[in-house]
Amino acid sequence: MATTTLEDEALLLELLNTSPVLDGVPTDELAADEEAAAWATVRGGSGTPAEAAHVREVRDALQSVVRDHETPDVLAPFIDGAAMVPSLVEGTVQWRLEVDPDRVLATRVVLAWADLEETRPGRLRSCGNPECRLFLIDRSHGNRAQWCSMATCGNRMKARRHYERKRQAARAAQRDGALAEG
Ligand SMILES: [Zn+2]
Repeated sequence: MATTTLEDEALLLELLNTSPVLDGVPTDELAADEEAAAWATVRGGSGTPAEAAHVREVRDALQSVVRDHETPDVLAPFIDGAAMVPSLVEGTVQWRLEVDPDRVLATRVVLAWADLEETRPGRLRSCGNPECRLFLIDRSHGNRAQWCSMATCGNRMKARRHYERKRQAARAAQRDGALAEG
């Protein structure tokens, strides 16, 4: 049953990426209730404090699961009691999510995560830069994407590797030189 839309996949990634490291400092775009409510409202939420709490909690749980720090069991409470209800609209079956309005966003992201895991396992992962806390969904053919963004982390890590190689080469040259002299 394909119930997850591309929109929900984007929602999932956006939610996972609400705690970026900015100038070396870990931040949380959902830390304040007001900010969390604004974030949710723009994405079809109701903007209530209860919803903000659910969104924050599901974000933390999903981050732990994607980072392999927790098993997916921690996601169970977020879909508990939710139901997908079919109805016939102009000749086609359409599915509607039935759950407490404050939990709609949290349930949608867990369903989007489950759909990704089932249809494209391993495609959702954390950025390869250990100092970055963002996530990516690899949509490339080769499934070798490592960075949340090539422009930021990709180039930074490439530059770092280049620097490390140069430093190692310089050290090796120094050692060889010392051996030759000794
Ligand atoms: Zn990154």
